[in-house]
Amino acid sequence: MKKSILLAAVAAAACAPSVTTNTGAAPTASASADRMVQDVKMVASDAFLGRGPATRGEELATNYIRDRLAAAGLQPGGPNGSWFQDVPLLKSDIVGAPTVSMTVNGQTTSLRQSDDVAVRASMQNIDHVTIENAPVIFLGYGVKAPERNWDDFKGQDVRGKVGIVLINDPDFETGQGDFGGRAMTYYGRWTYKYEEAARQGLAGLLIVHETAPASYGWATVKNSNTNTMFDIVRPNPAEVHPPLEGWIQHDVAARLLSAAGLNYDSLKKSAQTREFRPVILNNTTFSANYQVKQSTIRSKNVLGRIPGTTHPNETILYGAHWDHLGVGAPDAKGDTIYNGAQDNGTGIAAVLELARLFAAGPKPQRSLVFAFWTAEEKGLLGSEYYAANPVYPLETTVAGFNIDALAPVGRAHDVVVTGSGQSDLEDRLQTMLASSNRVITPDASPEAGYFFRSDHFPLAKRGVPMLYMDSGVDLLNGGKAAGDSADVLYRRNEYHQPADEYDASWDMSGIVEDVNVLHALGWQLANSRDWPNYRTTSEFRPVRDKSASIRH
Ligand SMILES: [Zn+2]
Repeated sequence: MKKSILLAAVAAAACAPSVTTNTGAAPTASASADRMVQDVKMVASDAFLGRGPATRGEELATNYIRDRLAAAGLQPGGPNGSWFQDVPLLKSDIVGAPTVSMTVNGQTTSLRQSDDVAVRASMQNIDHVTIENAPVIFLGYGVKAPERNWDDFKGQDVRGKVGIVLINDPDFETGQGDFGGRAMTYYGRWTYKYEEAARQGLAGLLIVHETAPASYGWATVKNSNTNTMFDIVRPNPAEVHPPLEGWIQHDVAARLLSAAGLNYDSLKKSAQTREFRPVILNNTTFSANYQVKQSTIRSKNVLGRIPGTTHPNETILYGAHWDHLGVGAPDAKGDTIYNGAQDNGTGIAAVLELARLFAAGPKPQRSLVFAFWTAEEKGLLGSEYYAANPVYPLETTVAGFNIDALAPVGRAHDVVVTGSGQSDLEDRLQTMLASSNRVITPDASPEAGYFFRSDHFPLAKRGVPMLYMDSGVDLLNGGKAAGDSADVLYRRNEYHQPADEYDASWDMSGIVEDVNVLHALGWQLANSRDWPNYRTTSEFRPVRDKSASIRH
């Protein structure tokens, strides 16, 4: 049912935007499996040490990419004629165990890090977090979405208070409403909730963990929030981070709320309506005390460019992250190098191949930029840095294509669009695919919010139309069963493990076909006056429309 709704939405929107003709000849050159395999073998070799940011692996990977771009005849695309955009990263660790507690009616409960709560090392660039007896307030889903006429804060002054909010968005459980039903909008993502908390001036925000709406269990929350935290270096980090950011176990939150005379389930029910108002917890305070160690590390994005002939200030962007997990804990075989051949050696190879195809062809009217982002695995940080410090104006970035972990499992009848339904780039993709009788398979789990989990997202958030196209799942050889089982096997045996290595059995034919599609799409846009956009139902449409007068 979920799927059919999505398909209907795609079909209905397909007639709205017009895809005008391009003036240049269509590209005929095809991507080369051999060249891409060479790239993957190199960047995923043990010598590259799993491409950890700010390691020897970074130096090798970024120099390799630069050399390949230069050899293909691209121009340096970074600031000041450089191939590199420096990306300073803030690294934060809690020193020792944080002291965190909640006091209800005179009774203090200490909240144990990792068991009861998962408190993140503060990313405000402060060396100490001290919250003493702050009032506690339940804020529903913590959402302020004027375009949906939704405001969980209702003008309440929450400055200096500690908020408790629910994960996902208000209509996840009811399945219908103003936030895409079960599908997650950005308002459902934890990053949004912390950002809004910072805008509201909260001293801290605790997100109540529940497995279904979060789409992962407490183990994931614990593992990814109680270790070293990274962010880009920001001029004013307090704009996006409250001093304390954390998660709280569902049962712990329910118990504390009940001690304060409230019922978790009925609070949640009331939070699913637009009439919800913040609820102050009577006789309840929150305290936290811990030291934070900060340091700055230096990494970089690699950027190559092909300037447009007639509209050089208008940019089509292709991007993939070059980083992976580096060297880490050994697997059962004692292997410690996280080679990242699929994730994201395939993406590096695909974007390099696109750069080669464009550089060898006729000159485009608009510019093309090929970006290789750092620190995706640490929280989309290279792309976030670029989006916060764009080398080319975002307002006139026509569209972007993100490539992250393609599947070397042969040709497919389809491609998967993660976050389907967001923009009319899908309609262009659909038209392009139709000529070879291929189709789009919509995002299979829109409630998990995968659209907010790769490098196109920092740009999408700022309004740039971005397409995140993945390998198809309906394989020519074996159909959906074969595609699904290949995916399951990859996730189980290789994903984020040392075993994600190049293998001679890889079938690159599907990747070749998909790179050709992305090439044709970019070529069409680079030689048109079209400005793709988000659909009117997308949370990213309003920010794009703000700069509409610049585009003509
Ligand atoms: Zn990746």
